[in-house]
Amino acid sequence: MKRVLVVMACGVVLHVPGAHAAAQTPVGPDLLLTRAERSDFRETTRYDEVVELMRRLAGAGGDVHVTTFGYSAEGRALPLVVVGAPDASPESVRATGKTRVYLQGDIHAGEVDGKEALLILLRRLAGGEYAMWSDSLVLLVAPIYNADGNERIRLDNRPRQHGPVGGMGQRANAQGLDLNRDHTKLDAPETRSLAGLLNAYDPHVTVDLHTTNGTRHAYHLTYAPPLHPNTPAALVTFLRERWLPEVTARVRAKHGWEFHFFGDARPLPGGGQAWATFDHRPRFSNNYAGLRNRLGILGESYAYATFEDRVKASLWLVEEILDFAHQNAGTVRRLAEEADRESVVGRELAVRAEAQRTGDVTILMGEVEEERHPYTGAVMLRRRDVRTPTVMADMGTFRASETAVAPEVYYVLPQAGAAIERLEAHGVTVVRYAEARAVDAERFVVDSTTVAEREFQGHRERTVWGHWVAERASLPEGTAFVSVDQPLGRLAFTLLEPRSDDGFTAWGFLDPEIEAGSFPVLRVPARR
Ligand SMILES: [Zn+2]
Repeated sequence: MKRVLVVMACGVVLHVPGAHAAAQTPVGPDLLLTRAERSDFRETTRYDEVVELMRRLAGAGGDVHVTTFGYSAEGRALPLVVVGAPDASPESVRATGKTRVYLQGDIHAGEVDGKEALLILLRRLAGGEYAMWSDSLVLLVAPIYNADGNERIRLDNRPRQHGPVGGMGQRANAQGLDLNRDHTKLDAPETRSLAGLLNAYDPHVTVDLHTTNGTRHAYHLTYAPPLHPNTPAALVTFLRERWLPEVTARVRAKHGWEFHFFGDARPLPGGGQAWATFDHRPRFSNNYAGLRNRLGILGESYAYATFEDRVKASLWLVEEILDFAHQNAGTVRRLAEEADRESVVGRELAVRAEAQRTGDVTILMGEVEEERHPYTGAVMLRRRDVRTPTVMADMGTFRASETAVAPEVYYVLPQAGAAIERLEAHGVTVVRYAEARAVDAERFVVDSTTVAEREFQGHRERTVWGHWVAERASLPEGTAFVSVDQPLGRLAFTLLEPRSDDGFTAWGFLDPEIEAGSFPVLRVPARR
């Protein structure tokens, strides 16, 4: 308690190596410090404090504008800071012609490091640091995406994580939904708000900041590019072979810390172990960005590093991502725009996927030691500075385990309103027929189907098996016409193919029609 009082009396300076003078303005009067900094990293910043910081940032000068982009389930407006455009409107942002980068913290609101790092980044931007970024970049910063979860503070929300010892928010939103499983089904208002932001501002790059409590490795942070095999290959190659290695090299050179591709060490059936990444499906943010032809980056600070170190790791990741984006702004923009122009009609794409082994990789394994939480007595773990190079199988990517040829067109019958409405919310271009018509198409005939025994995120996931039959189909008024030859064609394919492992069939949105024996999505195959 004594230490607390000393800290409160003297104020706190953030000890970030390389921080410039602007970040070290006298702390007493500095109204732009985060709650984490003010509490010596015992506490995390609350929603009202974020909103107040935004308000002060907007008045602090620089090209900083504050707006909101939607609402949480409990009606909290979701703050968005726009840096590098004349104002915060989507029209003005797009009209700059610059490369647009979306940065998001707090989707899992026990993983608060990204929120704190983004608030520090914004303060530095307002103070004139990184001024050159505005020549080529517009930043869209959403520090507190899961605002409702952030406010549900408990000291035991992330057991064994090394703080903040004054508590952190919860993983789910106020509806109990995991927002990083919601990007395809769009059940939460937060996710719909985000889809609206992506449609309106159309960022070329998205960065989603988390904290991982998995394998005890030696990395301060791990990251992942989009993992779905249908992601435009040029985007994945650029991230895997250039951008993320460059970020890693710069952080190592400046700070001596190691970053690496995300994974968990898992035993292999025949002995040995693999460095295995998580999941390819677009319900996850980075994979969703990839199917939207965008450079999606997931960042995972390491739960057993101290809270202060985790904030630094998240900040340094974002700094180097943005510095690289600034230096390669034209290339980043071109990659996204080329992916938008590339039609997938007639291409064999994955509807399901499996992890693949691609040689070996050397992973730096680490160690932790136990400490006691000072206020609950529970065990929490602290990273030790140990690095043990360990060779294991590399399972960082996915390959198709089942494919389908992308058709020219899907027709979604009007009774499948939940699907049509979601396509529109995703920003997929949909034309509703004003009158009935007959077309030559293929209809999916379900031969068999299963439904998961256990509910997941409010759904019992469905699998269908079946075959397509050609027919002269009568399409009633209100049928949705969805061309696959559009920028979001990859996403439309994944949402509408019946065998897709993350589509509307899987999430149960077509259940009434399937149970009535009539699959409500038809397609027109690609011309050979
Ligand atoms: Zn997370």
